[in-house]
This record gives sequence, C-alpha cells and structure tokens, in this order.
Amino acid sequence: MTGTPPIAIPADLLPADGRFGCGPSKVRPEAVAALAEAAPEYLGTSHRQAPVKFMVSRLRNAVHELFALPDGYDVILGNGGTTVFWDAATFGLIEQKSQHLAFGEFSSKFATCAAEAPFLAEPTVIRAPAGEAADPVGETGVDLYALTHNETSTGVATKIERPSGADAGALVAVDATSAAGGLRFDAAQTDVYYFAPQKCLASDGGLWIAAVSPAAMERIERIAASDRWIPASIDLKTAMDNSLKDQTYNTPALATIFLAVHQMEWINQNGGMLFSAGRSEANAKVIYDWAEASDYATPFVADPARRSNVVATIDLDDSVEATTVSAVLRANGVVDTDSYRKLGRNQLRVALFPAIDADDVRQLTRCIDHVVDELRSA
Ligand SMILES: *Cc1c(COP(=O)(O)O)cnc(C)c1O
Repeated sequence: MTGTPPIAIPADLLPADGRFGCGPSKVRPEAVAALAEAAPEYLGTSHRQAPVKFMVSRLRNAVHELFALPDGYDVILGNGGTTVFWDAATFGLIEQKSQHLAFGEFSSKFATCAAEAPFLAEPTVIRAPAGEAADPVGETGVDLYALTHNETSTGVATKIERPSGADAGALVAVDATSAAGGLRFDAAQTDVYYFAPQKCLASDGGLWIAAVSPAAMERIERIAASDRWIPASIDLKTAMDNSLKDQTYNTPALATIFLAVHQMEWINQNGGMLFSAGRSEANAKVIYDWAEASDYATPFVADPARRSNVVATIDLDDSVEATTVSAVLRANGVVDTDSYRKLGRNQLRVALFPAIDADDVRQLTRCIDHVVDELRSA
C-alpha cells in the first residue's frame, strides 16, 4: 500500500456531516442527544419493565404508521439483524420451496440459506448481473417469493409487486434493509417486509423488524405447529408471541430501539414516507445529476428507473482511482464512500438515506471534484 496523497480539502467544500456509509449510517445528532437525555430512566433498565416495553410499543406503532400497514398486519422483531432473519425465515416462513431474485450480494444470501436447508426443496433462483434487477415469475409449487427492495451492494432499486400467476397463499417476503423508510411501496403487495434499523432508520445494528400480513402470521403458526425442528433463538413463532407483548425473546440493544423510534417518529411527524422518501429523492437528484454532467463519473446503474434513491453507485473512469478518492475523503473526515468490496469496480458508493441532508450530498460532490482535480494535476 502506498500512502494516501496528502490532499487537504478546503473547509468551505466539506459537508456539515461527513457520514455517507450504507450501514451503519449517519445517526442524527438530535437522536443521540435525545437518547442521552432519556438515558437515566431508560438505558440500563430491565427490558421486561414498562419503560422499555413502552419503547418497543412505540417502535411497532411507528412502523405501522410509516408504512400505512393494511388492517390485520402486525410488526414483529427480534435480535440478530437481517442476516439472522434469513435463517429465521428459512426455518419458519418457507413451507417447501422458495423463489429468489439474486442480483447482488445481499439478494443472493437468502437464496443460499434456502438452498442449504436440508428440509426444503431446491429453491428457484432468478439471477441478473450486478447493476440490473431480476423480476419474479409466478411458479407452481413456490410458497414464498423472496424479493429485495434495494440491493445495497449495487445501488439497484426495484418495484415491489406480487408476481402474477403465483399459487394461492404464496407469500411475498421483501428484504427492505436499506429501503425501509426511504423508498415508497405498497404494503399490500407484501406479506413480510423486513429490515434492520442501521440504514434508513438511522439507528444501530443488531435488530430485525418485520411488518407481517395475516397470511404470514398464519404461515408462522402452521410451521411452528409442524414437526420441523426450529432453534429457539430464531423461532418466528416465539418472536411473534413476544413481539405482540412488546418484548423480545432475549435481551435487545435498548439504544438501537430508541434511535429507531426517534427516527421514525421524526419522519412520521414531518409527513411520513412522503417526507423521508422525498429527502432521499432530493439527495439522489443531486448526485446523479452531478455524475451525468461529470467528465469522469457515471452512474453505474444504466437504467435510470432502477437507480436507487437510497444508495448511489458511481463509476469513475480509468484516469482516477476510486479507492484513492475514498481514502483522501476519509482522511478529511468524509467517510465510507468506498464501493462494495466484492463488486470489484472503480466505483464510489454513497448513502442517500433520509437522515442525510441534500446540502451535504452537494458538498460531497464538490469534495470529490476537488480531490480528482488535485490527483489529476499531481
Ligand atoms: C445491510 C443489508 C443486509 C444485512 O443486514 P445485517 O443487519 O447486517 O444482517 C441485508 N440485506 C440488505 C439489502 C442490506 O442492505
């Protein structure tokens, strides 16, 4: 490794907040201050007593309101983040056979979980190259369709719709980890809309949250009553029973719950998804317009309709090394603009989550231009 070029970005170009990572992502300072203020009665207190149970109830209500969940839908949660939810869903949601759309690192992982489970049939996996998206296809015998609202590794967003021609009773499960709260969708098109709160919800990791339809709850009950062995810590029936009592099966991170509630209530009080998705959309416009106009940067996702409003991936041409740009930005306090490591492109990846201000995205583009100018003239 050669060292990072000693380029100092002028202060008037720097964003007020330099966090552009895709998760953990920027936590609003207001939320951290509120947590500090609430700490004496909240942090370090029992998760089985009223203060924490009330916070869990606020979290479930806030999700309900944010996504305008249809009647009968409920909100369940558990420990372990999205990755653990995939294991929970493999045990407790797929009856026999699932169909997965795999078009990047995250969307491929749930497919692998299902493929490796000895008690399930071989899943159907529909693949698309990085930078594109796959669409579900109604298929006889498939009882769960696994979609991804936003593929965080490539910056591809999808439209969430039930596949036509699906068997009656087939569930639609959507990994919305980087989308939930930043991209609009119709909850009635989903049975399980699941996510972790360290992205658009501007909280910390370690928790999974799922908005579930009556059909999904019925599926969870039915599989739990079957003779399938399910490890207790990832048993969705156990998670559901606890969630309905505003608690988790084992101890959750209390700060994570608090910060997620703070972010969702901030969004809900300011107009809900219209407000938060609007903020991400404004951020996206800034960065894609800049990239389109740039002589060295190009949006990686060719189809503008698939370009994500929550995660932008920007290719740089051969005259500049993206890893050097990211390293110089980091040395100046502008962090986590690195591309997804396994994608292997000359690329910057920038979070556009609702907590991030459009003015800061604009400043980021100025910082990148400045660094590239300096590198080219060196
Ligand atoms: C970040 C992310 C995950 C992984 O979430 P963890 O909470 O770290 O397990 C899964 N899916 C998508 C789409 C993500 O963006």
